[in-house]
Amino acid sequence: MRKLASIQRIKKLEPIEGADAIEKAYVLGWQLVVKKDEFKPGDLCIYCEIDSLMPPKPEFEFLRARGMRIKTARLRGQISQGIAFPLSYLPAGFEVEEGADCTDALGITKYDPPMPACLNGVAKGPFPGFIPKTDETRVQVLQDILDKYVGETCYVTEKLDGSSTTYFINNGEFGVCSRNLELLEDSENSLWKVAREQDIENKLRSLNGNYAFQGEMIGEGIQGNKLKLRGQHIRFFNVFDIDNAAYLDFDRFTSLMSSLELSTVPVLSTDYVLENDIEVLVKKATIRSSICTEAWAEGIVIRPVKERIELYNNHFVHSRVTFKAINPEFLLKYGE
Ligand code: AMP
Ligand code: MN
Repeated sequence: MRKLASIQRIKKLEPIEGADAIEKAYVLGWQLVVKKDEFKPGDLCIYCEIDSLMPPKPEFEFLRARGMRIKTARLRGQISQGIAFPLSYLPAGFEVEEGADCTDALGITKYDPPMPACLNGVAKGPFPGFIPKTDETRVQVLQDILDKYVGETCYVTEKLDGSSTTYFINNGEFGVCSRNLELLEDSENSLWKVAREQDIENKLRSLNGNYAFQGEMIGEGIQGNKLKLRGQHIRFFNVFDIDNAAYLDFDRFTSLMSSLELSTVPVLSTDYVLENDIEVLVKKATIRSSICTEAWAEGIVIRPVKERIELYNNHFVHSRVTFKAINPEFLLKYGE
């Protein structure tokens, strides 16, 4: 699990024009609105990222109307993401240290959208342990990674707001998984239907070895079908080589997908030279979808063209350098 809540420093505070009760704070790569005079620059605070689901405790009851969930807001024209609480909210005995994870100590969990009915299947078992679950870290917490990888050649894909899907072949066994479960075959479940339509099982069997294809299922009945598609479609973003416990580099991934006639997520750039500026990256994510140009894209995902591993770093699933920048306009529009 990534840190949703952690001890962080208020980097600076700025007044907001025309507002006397609130001010703008900078924490990690995030900007948020705080109560005036609650913090001084340099103070430590408890910072909770968007998508934090707060527990039912009196101090969080003011979030009840918002489903206890921390969302993106626009206050007096300022985008505000996340929330800062004073350290006094920590349970007694918590060791305060900059960066310390206090997600569990506060009883915070991650908000996950409910599984659409058409994707709900009967569980065959948990998600297989030999494949990493899909996940992307938010760029706002990755200043150290940007410092290290600035100048690296990256590819940029459009982030699609659907449902994570994994197909695999492992020692002769074909499997279909949603984000957190392996699913039994059935005639109604969309993940299985699309697998049959696209002949995914045979395509996986044609490979020499054990592999997983991971992608986003989008379309009718899924996440409000914001891109107004007909039917349901899968767009792949990962090929994982199970035997070598490694993701394929971009070139091998895309050439394999095209030779198998499978679609990838929209590739927006293959020669993006990574910039060390979170604000610039969030601007880069503030775009319309390349699939439906009247809709906001959810954002972008950035990865080195040559796969990179960060072993001693707990930012990433499976140590792989990959991250997302979410479009704030998308979050505001859809209340996230
Ligand atoms: P989130 O949806 O905010 O939990 O972000 C992580 C998820 O984005 C992954 O688990 C994928 O299911 C999904 N995703 C959608 N589009 C992409 C993409 N272009 N690259 C990687 N992951 C993606
Ligand atoms: Mn998602």
